[in-house]
Order: sequence, then C-alpha cells, then structure tokens
Amino acid sequence: MSIQSINPATEEVLETFEPYTDEQIDNALQQAHTAFDSWSRTSFAERSALFHRLASHLRENKARLARTATLEMGKPIVEAESEVEKCALNCDYYADHAEMFLAPQEMSSNATKSYVAFRPLGVVLALMPWNFPYWQVMRFAAPGLMAGNTAVLKHASNVSRVALEIERMFEEVGFPKGVFRTVLVPGAETEKLIKDPRVAAVTLTGSEQAGIKVAEASGSVLKKHVLELGGSDAYIVLADADLDEAAKTAVQARNQNNGQSCIAAKRFIVVGQVYDEFVEKFVKNTRQLHIGDPLERETKIGPLARKDLRETLEQQVQASLSEGARLATGGKRFGDKGYYYEPTILVDVTPAMTVFKEETFGPMAAVIRARDADHAIELANDSIFGLSSNLWTRDIELAQRLAARIEAGGVFINGMTASAPSLPFGGVKHSGYGRELSHFGIQEFVNVQTVWIG
Ligand code: NAP
Repeated sequence: MSIQSINPATEEVLETFEPYTDEQIDNALQQAHTAFDSWSRTSFAERSALFHRLASHLRENKARLARTATLEMGKPIVEAESEVEKCALNCDYYADHAEMFLAPQEMSSNATKSYVAFRPLGVVLALMPWNFPYWQVMRFAAPGLMAGNTAVLKHASNVSRVALEIERMFEEVGFPKGVFRTVLVPGAETEKLIKDPRVAAVTLTGSEQAGIKVAEASGSVLKKHVLELGGSDAYIVLADADLDEAAKTAVQARNQNNGQSCIAAKRFIVVGQVYDEFVEKFVKNTRQLHIGDPLERETKIGPLARKDLRETLEQQVQASLSEGARLATGGKRFGDKGYYYEPTILVDVTPAMTVFKEETFGPMAAVIRARDADHAIELANDSIFGLSSNLWTRDIELAQRLAARIEAGGVFINGMTASAPSLPFGGVKHSGYGRELSHFGIQEFVNVQTVWIG
C-alpha cells in the first residue's frame, strides 16, 4: 500500500510514496553495512568536521526544512524553526565532545596496563516518530555516527518527505555514501529489518505498543536496543509554589508541539490549598492560545498530526467525562477543516479515569487534586509511565528530597521539562530503557571493550 503525506491543517494529500521494495531495502542495508568498515576507522576530527558542516547546513536551510515539517505534521512554524536550530546545536555538541566522551579510560587491575576502549557496533537501525521529525533523528544520529556507527532510518510514515530530506542532507554535506540511509517502510513491516544480520542494534522512539514489538523482535535475535517511549508526566504544584509562574509554564509544558510531546506535562497534580487558584489561572492562560494555520508565525496551536490521533484524544476526553471529570475549557474540535482540537482542561480527574491512566497525545490537560505533598508524589507515581516530571515549590531542599521519590527519568524543579544535548534523556517503567544525549547517550551504541596487557 502507498504511503501518504497529508497536510493535517488542510487534509490535502501532499505526496504519495511507494514503500521501498525488498531490493531497495537490501541495497540500503548493504550500503550502510559496507560503509561501516571505513567510517568506523575515520578519525574523530574527520567526523567532527562533517557534523559541523551539517550544523551549518541545518542553519542555512532552516526556513525550508521547518516548512517541510509543518506541512507534513502541523507543528507551529516558529517551533519547527527552533527544532531545526536545536538539531544544529546537537550536531555541534557531539562534534565537539564525542572524542572526550569516548576517550579510552585507564583502569587499575592485575595487568601491567589495562584500559577500556569504546568501539562502534555497526549499523544502527533507527525507528523514529513524527512529532519532532528532525530532532528525534539527530538526537540519535549525531552521537551514533560520531561514535563510528552507520545508520539506517525508518521514519514515521506520515513524515516521509522529512525522512528523505534528512538523508539528502547527509549526502549534501559530504558524508560518505551509505553512512546514513533512509528507507520508506510501514511500521508493521519492520520486523524483517530488525532481524537482518547486517543490523547490529536498534533504537526506537515511539509508542509503548511499538516498543513491545521492537523489544520482542530485537530480543528474539539478541540485539541491543534502546527504547524511548511514551509518557504521562506529572506536574506537581505544592502550596508554596509561585502560582503565576507555575500556571504560565503549565500552558507551554502541556501545549507545545500541539500537545504532542512525550515529555509534555500531562497530569497536573495540585495540592488542595492552591487547587482552585491554580485552575483559574491555568484556564485563563490556556484560553489565550492562538489556534490557527501552523504556517503563521503567531499560531500557538495547530492541528493534530493525523486524523486518528484526534479521534483517540476525543475518545479519551469523552470517556473521562463520563467517568466524572469536569470540563473547564475546550473539549471540542476547532474549525471545519484540518485535525484541530481546542486546548482542553479536565478538572477533578482521579486515578480511575482514562486521561489519568493513558497517555494523552494532544492539547489536553488533566488536573488532579492532592491532599498534600506526600499524596502528590503517590499520585505522580501511580502511572505505568516514568519519563519526566515537574515539581513546583519555593522550598528547594524539600524539592530535592521529593525528587528522590519520583519514579521518572527526569525531575524538573520550578520549570518545564526540556531536552538539552548535555543532559541525559530517557525513562523508566513503560517509558522505556536506555538514555540519549550527554555522554550516557553516546555510550549506548558502543562496545565497552576491556583491553588487558599482561
Ligand atoms: P508510533 O506509532 O509508535 O511510531 C513510532 C515509529 O515506530 C514509527 O516509525 C512507526 O512507523 C514505527 N512503528 C509503528 N508500529 C511499529 C511496530 N509494530 N514495530 C516497529 N515499528 C513500528 O509512535 P508515534 O505515534 O509516531 O509517536 C508518538 C509516541 O511516541 C508517543 O507515545 C510518544 O510519547 C512517543 N515519543 C517518545 C519520545 C521519547 O523520547 N521517549 C519522544 C517522542 C515521542 P509508522 O509510522 O510507519 O507506523
């Protein structure tokens, strides 16, 4: 079946792609496999020069690349531009730091000399999502390739143009043939790719369901894999928090990228003393978000990326309303064209309700009342997910003590979760395993080799 790119703001088909034939897939895998031999023996300086060139290319082509993403998946253009810039930053970061992160480490032992060296693994298969279509790929590719691996990208099918643009970019700046290849393959057909003996390791950023499939397939052939999956991040507001700031940041933390971010705050857990005041401010700020054409610079909320994603969100909201949640704002479609959904807040949500239990991937905030800080932590941890979390209080000592009790890969105190090249990123529980970014990320796809000299 053909793969279609549909503009979610207009519902028009932008392009139709044919999935790669077995021969095209074989060709891509073979190229990446062949390229590994010479690429893995290039120096850090050579790789670094290419990544600096890639960073410049991203900056020079920012407007065009951002527009391609906005057309395919509907994110506001200003956010798409920031995403491209962040990719450039990440390329520069690993170009500058990879050698240091992977420098051999002397270890003391019974040997005359012993040390650990970090060797690349081979071809890494990257299965990536559409929500940050450049960033998710570069977040893996910059460290992965700087470490000496080659890559084959299987991107989300609704961003196939972006997928091909990324491959072209690597070619244009001069990466050797085959170091980075894209294949167009439907998600349900990736098992063969994962099991191909030329693939050394697999990284997936995507949903919990895809994570299970990828873990099963990789596990069945004993292949290293990293999983960056969904989240239902808690945003805890304690009684002494700066409420104005917390309610202002909450709007961005939930609605950035049209609410389609794994690390978006999704469950707003607010202690009783400040619950009503927080809700009032949060609702007021949310109503000010400008909904519209994502190509316009003032737009803060565009459409959801696909028709089915809006339907899922609608069902989650309806189910929660029938379970007893109260609608504070939104709760309906916007306009008569495009997959728009009004920024929505449900209040008086409890752990038994759908929007508490499931990940909500769109502009939909669930507000939950907590008795006190201990109860707030208990509610935050009452989730199958554990990606990141947010905690608002003026008592930094208390915040750090509470952070130790939060089951999540990150705790952001008095701010919203945001990834950065220098900070490790990843989750626990059903949010996945492994880490990206920082030195932890680059060490995921290497052989930590002990060298012992008698
Ligand atoms: P998705 O449906 O799981 O898709 C992600 C990728 O996996 C796509 O390339 C998809 O291909 C592929 N895929 C789908 N089913 C598969 C299967 N059975 N086996 C192997 N691959 C499969 O997720 P999405 O809707 O694109 O992205 C949203 C999800 O990603 C959310 O849950 C979000 O929280 C999560 N996410 C996590 C992070 C993180 O860093 N932790 C970051 C961003 C997003 P097709 O498009 O061809 O189906």
